[in-house]
Amino acid sequence: MLFGRSKKNPIKLTDKGAVEWKYTTCGYCSTGCSIEVGLNSDGKAVSARGVGDADVNRGKLCIKGILEYELFETPGRGRVPLLRNRRDETFQQASWDQALMRTTDEIKRIQSQYGRDAFAIVSTGQIMTEEFYTLGKLARGLIGTNNYDGNTTLCMSSAVSGYKRSFGSDGPPGCYEDFEHTDCLIAFGSNLPEQHPIIYWRMREAREQRKFPLIVVDPRVTMLAQMADMHLAINPGTDLVLLNALAHVILAEGLQDEQYIASHTEGFEDFKALVAQYDPVSAAKICGIDEDTIRNVARLYANAPSAMSIWTMGINQSTHGSDGVVAINNLNLITGNIGKPGGTSLSITGQCNAMGTREWSSCSGLPGYRALEKEKDREEIAKFWNVDPEFFPKKRGLFMTDILPAIETGQIKGLWLIATNPMTSMPNTARIRKTLERLEFLVVQDAYADVETNEYSHVFLPAGLWAEKEGCFTNTERRVNLIRNVMPPHGESKPDLWIFNSIAKHFDAEGKVRFPETAEAVFDEMKQLSKGRLLDMSGMSYAKIEQQRGLQWPCPDGAATGTPRLYSDGVFQYPGGKAKLLALPFVDNNERPDDEFPFWLNSGRVVEHFHTRTRTGKIGNQNKFSPTPYMEMNPDAAAELGVEHGRYARLVSRRGDAVVLVQCTQRVSRDMVFVPFHYHECVNRLTLGLLDPHSRQPAFKQAAVRVEPISDQTAAAALNLAARAY
Ligand code: SF4
Repeated sequence: MLFGRSKKNPIKLTDKGAVEWKYTTCGYCSTGCSIEVGLNSDGKAVSARGVGDADVNRGKLCIKGILEYELFETPGRGRVPLLRNRRDETFQQASWDQALMRTTDEIKRIQSQYGRDAFAIVSTGQIMTEEFYTLGKLARGLIGTNNYDGNTTLCMSSAVSGYKRSFGSDGPPGCYEDFEHTDCLIAFGSNLPEQHPIIYWRMREAREQRKFPLIVVDPRVTMLAQMADMHLAINPGTDLVLLNALAHVILAEGLQDEQYIASHTEGFEDFKALVAQYDPVSAAKICGIDEDTIRNVARLYANAPSAMSIWTMGINQSTHGSDGVVAINNLNLITGNIGKPGGTSLSITGQCNAMGTREWSSCSGLPGYRALEKEKDREEIAKFWNVDPEFFPKKRGLFMTDILPAIETGQIKGLWLIATNPMTSMPNTARIRKTLERLEFLVVQDAYADVETNEYSHVFLPAGLWAEKEGCFTNTERRVNLIRNVMPPHGESKPDLWIFNSIAKHFDAEGKVRFPETAEAVFDEMKQLSKGRLLDMSGMSYAKIEQQRGLQWPCPDGAATGTPRLYSDGVFQYPGGKAKLLALPFVDNNERPDDEFPFWLNSGRVVEHFHTRTRTGKIGNQNKFSPTPYMEMNPDAAAELGVEHGRYARLVSRRGDAVVLVQCTQRVSRDMVFVPFHYHECVNRLTLGLLDPHSRQPAFKQAAVRVEPISDQTAAAALNLAARAY
């Protein structure tokens, strides 16, 4: 294949010999790009390409998607089940029967000895929706523990909580097409070019056509901030103050949409009284954005015919993440920007199937956005699953971030981790290590046997990865897309669906509860349960999803296609149909820099890595861009401390320390350092992770550290190398 034929040295792309292309969906971020994996004549995956007629990515992929086909042969994969009696023993290979028997025996022993809730389950945002649904049926309907949650508490629970508080239900109301209609965009704590490159490309293309203003709110000069019309370098953790001040200006200057507020919201008077306290002069002193800028942004947003807000972890990973989401929703409700083209509150989700777990896993309730607290929902699901409704708890149990402390206090004795890696992803690594060591029984189910958390397990269950299985993911814009089975699972590993179904047989030998064997049959059950609900998928089928390259719910039976936006009729999910405007006072409870720890510690993603690098750290052409733990530091601050660019330095917080390579850059202010969160034994040795009271999501991005130069650079390099070995 040749480009630039008229030029002297045309670029040549190697023909990798793909003879067959199989349809799938990217298994990294929540953008939801459609991918075709190319297989050569030996059936080996040799290439990948974006699907040209898929609306999400229109033929494009980012570096992770382009190289994703290499995952099938990455090192560190689990090949066989592993067993040991104690953590300090060497693992022994085992048969699946032995591993599943040991797991179910231990779950039963712990539950009979300490009570049903003494065994906890924490899953992920990475497996298929059909697998989430099946795990939920097993956890809620057969095992019966209420301490069951997902690692999405670390990334999306503030968005879930905020949507529920404002609109009466989870579910992002907007879509990517909104970029093509909007007249003003504010991005809060969202660095699209690195986190969601293809959403960024959609936004950028729309902006080139229509030149709408882009305002970026972020303490760091991110890639997106560099391209913005206005960059509001906010003080960490003070978004709520800025949002209240924007609302203050809008109401003080009469720029609100009175008709929308009167017809579709309640709580306006209390909200108005609260934001009256957040005048721009006072707010500027807290959030660090000057009063004129606050007024200008408020006017720009409220006067735009349609305006939209997007956000990611800069809002969610905060002690007031849920309030931040509600405040964004407030802004869009008072300006009438919900459910219309270009007007929306769009949470950009994290993991490829964080939405799938929110919708169907039963972690926070029961499947299909049903609640444990509602008798009608319990009865309906109990009847459908053929279980006793009294077996269900009447309110949700602990979040992931409360399950781990409950191990510390002895309330929880056994844990099953599915495709999640708390040894790297949870704040305060030293505390998590001690926590896992206290468990009587830990089972780790993962595609990789070398995942850090597996060092603490008694049983390892090797699982299939991405397109070694079949099923669906839901992306940020509620689009359900299909992953076709491209490869058999590696070694003797099994699809997560098979593992859940097999464990179910140990709890229900007579087969009282039906566990369909194929993903498509599970999908049929979900369709039935979705009928008439907000997330109606009854009009979907695998064939139709593939043919349309994904369908957005609601897609009721008989519908030709999906629905791009929620709440276009102004009817919300609360009884009475009105959204809530909520008054949100700011409580400043974060750890802050002081004389001993004078820097803000900020963290985030880089484009070439995903989460804890279990996958991207194994692909050479990705890992080479940032193979080692590093930090961005302002050159003036570095010079003052005698810290040099390209050398190692030590970061110290009240929790621990980490050795990082220094990268001097003006992207960060003099009182801040930024560290990518992907590395083991790095940023989370330092973080405090105070929890949001509503969502229980940790404040990963607000902690205080000091920076120390290191004289022994050779020893520092050895420590840094050890951290990157994972
Ligand atoms: S943008 Fe996200 S979904 Fe698309 S290819 Fe990249 S990682 Fe995959």
